[in-house]
Amino acid sequence: MGIATINPATGETVKTFTALTDAEIENALALADRAFRDYRRVSFDTRSQWMQNAANLLEENAETYAKIMTLEMGKPITAAIAEVKKSAAVCRFYAENAAQFLADVPAESDASNSFIAYEPLGAILAVMPWNFPFWQVFRFAAPALMAGNVGLLKHASNVPQCALAIGEIFQKAGFPEGVFQTLLVGSNKVAQIITDDRVKAGTLTGSEPAGASLASLAGQNIKKTVLELGGSDPFIVLETADINAAVEAAVTARMLNNGQSCIAAKRFILISSIADEFESRMAEKFAALKIGDPMLPDTEVGPLATPDILTELHQQVQICVEAGAKVLTGGQLLEQPGNFYPPTILTQIPEGTPAYSEEFFGPVALIFRVNSLDEAITLANSTIFGLGASGWTTNQAEQERLIRELEAGAVFINGLVKSDPRLPFGGIKRSGYGRELSSQGIHEFVNIKTVWIK
Ligand code: NDP
Repeated sequence: MGIATINPATGETVKTFTALTDAEIENALALADRAFRDYRRVSFDTRSQWMQNAANLLEENAETYAKIMTLEMGKPITAAIAEVKKSAAVCRFYAENAAQFLADVPAESDASNSFIAYEPLGAILAVMPWNFPFWQVFRFAAPALMAGNVGLLKHASNVPQCALAIGEIFQKAGFPEGVFQTLLVGSNKVAQIITDDRVKAGTLTGSEPAGASLASLAGQNIKKTVLELGGSDPFIVLETADINAAVEAAVTARMLNNGQSCIAAKRFILISSIADEFESRMAEKFAALKIGDPMLPDTEVGPLATPDILTELHQQVQICVEAGAKVLTGGQLLEQPGNFYPPTILTQIPEGTPAYSEEFFGPVALIFRVNSLDEAITLANSTIFGLGASGWTTNQAEQERLIRELEAGAVFINGLVKSDPRLPFGGIKRSGYGRELSSQGIHEFVNIKTVWIK
């Protein structure tokens, strides 16, 4: 696939871009290497000022950047503006906390003085997806740059204008040339970059095959990776839950980003006693959502990012329906241009269908009924994924069991799973490994150096 801006609301190719040549990639790697030698010595105070400048630029130009995102991948404009502001927040979080997170830690030993120092590694490659084209990049770049690393961004091929805008933000913020570079390259160039000696580690957010490919190449070259891959997060509603709040959160959690979020609730696991009420209220709300032009402020559901995602999602739905699943709302392709898919709810889904094993990356909610907490936990855990999980109950014993027994990188009780710079983010099982955000995130790409002085 070429590197291009294709409006997902209309199918129109707005602009195409030429990928970097091998010589240009070589120049970029050499520049990153040179830049690191000086940048690693820049004080936390100075890095912090530049990172605050980046946050200011994001906030001052939130609408402009949001429009680029909406144009390229179709998220509703209000969500895009919120994403730019959240990206500013993660810059500020690390600008304010990096020095403390990475301060030397005294450690007692047989030395007269021993301690742990955290030092940058060098150039880190970030392979990033289109679904949160600003947030995912800043979530990587803010801690990486504050730690003294330099960043190389290979963004998804359908969001080149976002990728270029982000590069420009770091440049305008004052970071020296080469500290953050956007490389307009296709995924066929990732192997060449990650295996280059000047690149020290890699991080990827995206699909399993892409993650496995990057990690195996990095592994062959003894380089660390962080992977943030797919999810099929459970949203468990038990008898004592506040049903109004749970339905409200369920709709928000599933529809976030037109349903294309790794931590979206995808499987709704309902205890039988509340299932009828929950289902009918959720169906009512899904049917009332406003689908349309994502540039309009009152649009709630925009198009999917690419025609391939639309085709794959509809196929998954059709397989479930042909096997006997019941459609509560949606489920039919819309007769209009663009990659729009209606908010859809499937229930009474037979075992063995994709609903039990695959990620549905779009506005489709999968409902399952269970008769006990044990059954709910077993079903929730019966997937290859383990990113987030949301449990709804006011019963403390049930809460405790959900917290301890759900196989996930995060458990949220009576709330929807979301990312927050102050809390670590990441998965287990085939959802990936490593953590982003919080103090854990900034420690992923540093040399944890032991210092021993006699
Ligand atoms: P991909 O994983 O293909 O794309 C994510 C990033 O990885 C892009 O920058 C892409 O580049 C790059 N990439 C793709 N293949 C390789 C490879 N072999 N080696 C190195 N880099 C690679 O995701 P898709 O856009 O194709 O989406 C497919 C599915 O992935 C979704 O349906 C969803 O299940 C999952 N996904 C999960 C996300 C998450 O947030 N966890 C985000 C996006 C997707 P290029 O664009 O040039 O191909």
